[in-house]
Amino acid sequence: MSSEPEEEVDTTYYAVGPEATVPEFLAVSKLYAREVVRHYGLTVDVSGLDWEVSKRAKRRAGAVKHRDGTPETVSLTWEFFQNCGWEATAETIRHELVHVHLLNEEGDGSHGARFEELAAELDTHVNCERFAEPKWWIRCASCGTALARYRRSKLVENTESYRCGSCGGSLRLSENRPRE
Ligand SMILES: [Zn+2]
Ligand SMILES: [Zn+2]
Repeated sequence: MSSEPEEEVDTTYYAVGPEATVPEFLAVSKLYAREVVRHYGLTVDVSGLDWEVSKRAKRRAGAVKHRDGTPETVSLTWEFFQNCGWEATAETIRHELVHVHLLNEEGDGSHGARFEELAAELDTHVNCERFAEPKWWIRCASCGTALARYRRSKLVENTESYRCGSCGGSLRLSENRPRE
């Protein structure tokens, strides 16, 4: 048991940037996963799992591959990491670790009640399809053109000083609140 159970594992300590190579990215992901497993007392053997990057996956941020209910591989989506950054990827790693834990403990690969409980404890999302959810929407007040933004940028910081590329109308920024 941790002496400070409320405290979360500091993701910034493990941060990797988009210039990281795949082996570097996977090494950091495993280090971080080990720390999460230890911190929350999960039944997960990080070294016993295969860790891979998927460069083909588009819609999901990560996945656990299992055979007959035994988790074998944690697959992390490269494009998600590139678009959404380390913090979002760390959240995905926590999500996948909850899956591995529940598969090992209860043979449960669902997003059921136990998953929801643990997801709340580990501060991660319940829904796998997070990839499609941008952090912000920038919309044109005139023509309704909408741009999805995943990372902070000049356009996000300073939306009013830009104009719509289609019609020249004024742009509005809104934070995207994905439904739970
Ligand atoms: Zn899931
Ligand atoms: Zn417009």
